[in-house]
Amino acid sequence: MDYTCLMCNHLVEITQPCPNCGGEMSNLGLLQDFYDSYSPYLDQEIYEDNYKNYNHHYCVHLMKCDNCDTELFYPYKRLTEQQLHEFYINK
Ligand SMILES: [Zn+2]
Ligand SMILES: [Zn+2]
Repeated sequence: MDYTCLMCNHLVEITQPCPNCGGEMSNLGLLQDFYDSYSPYLDQEIYEDNYKNYNHHYCVHLMKCDNCDTELFYPYKRLTEQQLHEFYINK
């Protein structure tokens, strides 16, 4: 079974208000893609704690505030082929 992340495929535009300043947060990409470059700043335990709560049904994106540089993890549920089909029908 294939799972598709709408965020990764740019099928949805997620806007998330910053918990710190209320500004708009941008989707930087996948958490795992950033982990290597972020590792000096990001504690491995934090990474694992955040990551182990989610399974392969979720794609964990990193959001960053354009205003104050606050970062947060944004898990987005992947869709099955059936759900993806329904997504297109309902669009
Ligand atoms: Zn994704
Ligand atoms: Zn902010």
